[in-house]
Amino acid sequence: MRYLSTRGHVAPVGFLDAVMMGMADDGGLLVPETIPQIDAAMLQRWKDLSYQDLTLEILQCYVQDEISRSDLRSLINASYTGFRHDEVVPVRQLDPTHFVLELFHGPTFAFKDVALQFLGNLYAYIARTSQAQINILGATSGDTGASAIEGVRGKEGIRICILYPYGKVSKVQALQMTTVNDANVLNLAVEGSFDDCQRIIKDLFADVSFKRSYHLRAVNSINIARILVQSVYYFYAYFQLVKAGHRGSFEVSVPTGNFGDIFAGYLARRMGLPMDKLILATNENRILERFVNQGVYQPAEVRKTYSPSMDIQVASNFERYLYYLSEENPEVVRELMQRFHGEGRIEVDCHKRRQVQSDFAAARVSNETCLDTIVDYHERYGYLIDPHTACAAAAVEAVGSERTPTVILSTAHPAKFNEALALRNLAGPYPREIEALFSKPKFEKRMAASSEEIQRELIHFLG
Ligand SMILES: *Cc1c(COP(=O)(O)O)cnc(C)c1O
Repeated sequence: MRYLSTRGHVAPVGFLDAVMMGMADDGGLLVPETIPQIDAAMLQRWKDLSYQDLTLEILQCYVQDEISRSDLRSLINASYTGFRHDEVVPVRQLDPTHFVLELFHGPTFAFKDVALQFLGNLYAYIARTSQAQINILGATSGDTGASAIEGVRGKEGIRICILYPYGKVSKVQALQMTTVNDANVLNLAVEGSFDDCQRIIKDLFADVSFKRSYHLRAVNSINIARILVQSVYYFYAYFQLVKAGHRGSFEVSVPTGNFGDIFAGYLARRMGLPMDKLILATNENRILERFVNQGVYQPAEVRKTYSPSMDIQVASNFERYLYYLSEENPEVVRELMQRFHGEGRIEVDCHKRRQVQSDFAAARVSNETCLDTIVDYHERYGYLIDPHTACAAAAVEAVGSERTPTVILSTAHPAKFNEALALRNLAGPYPREIEALFSKPKFEKRMAASSEEIQRELIHFLG
């Protein structure tokens, strides 16, 4: 299996090179050359597999012989031992047609652990087998940083530095980063905004000789390994529905920000999963909802909402979908992206818009509706959901089909966003693991929002 750039100007690379490349060197994103096809007989064979074994089967199609089956199995098993639920990602049935796929049982109580636990182990495997040092540098508005740190803390051959805006991430998110005291982790609390953090990262990566000599790698949602790992739980959810007696098609509702999670679902469907509608749920940052419903992709000012991990305007994985929408023609993608950078918008014709609308249904959820939905689910089902999950749930009510079974992806544990739940008097107790963080010593370094100073600090850390 080889991986190609959506912009077509990179020689095809294998799986491990694709993982190490992150973003394609021509500015595009990497996609598999062909999508493996899973037929009905294979689905039938896989339906009783454990989550780990299912991950093994699916990843094997994409990794092929670059990692031996037994090594791949060990990497996968190690990635999910830290999950608090035997099934890793259990499905909960709320009523005859509403199901919730709980993706938040990993170490940081958000779905990003499902992929980043694996990516951390994969990086460690690459460092070990190729004697390479891997230094990861990233900026986070909350969940990704904590999850990436958990994925690599204490691992041989890897160091990680995360920048985040001081005072602008949630209390729990900050604690999850700053209470880690492994020597290979550096947290820098930047006196500025998330945009400042991203700008600094860009500056540092733009310094090519610095980037090369310190072996810097990015951690963000565009890594192809993350997408592939996330496609597994769409299959897993389907099998649980089959076991609950459902036949035929189903829908999935996905709380969407960077388009990574929902793209993984799109990929699963292209692999042959009999999924009907993918419901794209956004908060008030509606760029993707507008694209689906009106055919226009155009960023606006970022709005602050109760689901901060979706407070995003430019969706970093969107280009992968554009590639398939353009019938896998990199020239068309290049032209669209050029237009986007020049004019600040992309508009597709009505033929393409029909295609988009057969792939997705989309709904935008206001701040009020988000909180109302949390209350509604709590009253109706005695089940508490976080604000990100609530966007997906509200979107089902808005654009889902009535009698089709629907899986709502639950991307965070409600206690992680207690500040929002408190507005409707629904803040619950913290889980034991989160409660324990409050009394731990903190390791963080406050920094001015200056690329030079942060570069000096990094050189010191990376030695
Ligand atoms: C990152 C995140 C999302 C959005 O996922 P994307 O892949 O960026 O679309 C949704 N919910 C939570 C809790 C997240 O951390």
